[in-house]
Amino acid sequence: MLIRTGFGYDSHRFAGDRDFILGGVRIPHEKGLAGHSDADALIHALIDAILGALCAGDIGTHFPDTDPRYKDISSLVLLEHTVRLAREKGYAVAQADSTIIAQAPRLAPHVEAMRKVLSGVLGTEAVSVKAKTNEGMGFIGRGEGIAAFAVCVLKSV
Ligand code: MG
Repeated sequence: MLIRTGFGYDSHRFAGDRDFILGGVRIPHEKGLAGHSDADALIHALIDAILGALCAGDIGTHFPDTDPRYKDISSLVLLEHTVRLAREKGYAVAQADSTIIAQAPRLAPHVEAMRKVLSGVLGTEAVSVKAKTNEGMGFIGRGEGIAAFAVCVLKSV
């Protein structure tokens, strides 16, 4: 069995008048994240981790933010595309670990729901979602936006 590992990072700024979608879950908050798609930073980090493991470019090359097809699209759809691409190249996701950094809202109550949704799309129960604040420091600490990091392990199938 061949093993590949990839790493991904993403950040998005908060903006009014949008739903706050993270890990495929809608989270009650007065602001959402700005972006061409639904701006799901956690899923974008996961997509880049999978693409990184495949040595297949990044989210911008596969789903350009200039393409009207991806306007306001659910990032779950982009993640499904990416998992399918991995399959076509002979790989399945064996494990994913991730960390979201957000000052507010408190994400811990939503982590299990995100884990379940992501497990369904990634095709493995070995999905970890962790959430923390930035101790009030920098753009995240000021509540201007959030960031997410992800690592994915792929196995040949
Ligand atoms: Mg993004």
